[in-house]
Amino acid sequence: MDDSSEVDKTIHAAVMRNHPLWKRFDAHPMQLPAPVTTKTFPSMRTALLVCHHARSRMNCLDCVAGQASIRDDVTMQRPILFDLDRTLVDLQNHTDYAAALADLHSLLEGWSEFEVLDADWDAPTLECMAILVALSNDPRWGPASAAVAAHERAAIPRSTPMPGLAEVGAACVGTPYAVVTLLPPDVAREVLDHHGFPVEVIIGRDPGIRAKPYGDGLVAAAQLLGVDVEGCVMIGDSSWDRAAAVDAGGGFIGVPATSSAFASDVLTASSLVEAVWMARSR
Ligand SMILES: [Mg+2]
Repeated sequence: MDDSSEVDKTIHAAVMRNHPLWKRFDAHPMQLPAPVTTKTFPSMRTALLVCHHARSRMNCLDCVAGQASIRDDVTMQRPILFDLDRTLVDLQNHTDYAAALADLHSLLEGWSEFEVLDADWDAPTLECMAILVALSNDPRWGPASAAVAAHERAAIPRSTPMPGLAEVGAACVGTPYAVVTLLPPDVAREVLDHHGFPVEVIIGRDPGIRAKPYGDGLVAAAQLLGVDVEGCVMIGDSSWDRAAAVDAGGGFIGVPATSSAFASDVLTASSLVEAVWMARSR
């Protein structure tokens, strides 16, 4: 093994394990073995992750001087946390949440001790999600989630990609991203795979993670990506997504599915792809 490949492995390990080398680079990027170029890193993604954590665009530009393709990307990359339903794929409008709610009522025998934060969803969808959020520390969460998931999974063949989904992968090159969704992670993975948009990091419905509108799922996703949640931008279609982003301390860009989705002071994009580019350039 020659010296450059040894350096590649060392830096890669530092990035992945938050090694002290990482912290030294964070404070003094130019202390890394010079010259730091694309060849120094095991992949473009690692180079971009390192540069992201340096948190200094000028330092990033210095350390990759002469690498125009990386320089262009480094100036526009910020971790993105996507909502799934009606943001990447529309499963919600093809799921029979009225039937799911009837199943929940049967299962919970009229239990109604939950609050509902408004959203531009139909009433059964809103009530199903509010019930699941309220049950997060309750032993009934498991059967309740499974009852709803049966209807969500059944809708996968009928689900439709949101406009621009086919372009999102290319728009995200070099940008760490994850999905934070109210769907169960296995259903989320299935529906994303169904539409040809596999995502490595998915935080879904989980009794151990308070769901949106809490920010816990965003924090968990950021940890898996190895980034600070405050530096992330959430892209989503609903007020619950925005509430979660605010709770987590991250940024937010709305891609409204209806005219009543957000208050007028919320930053929104006219399309999913525009939202990605806005997030990367902020
Ligand atoms: Mg949504």
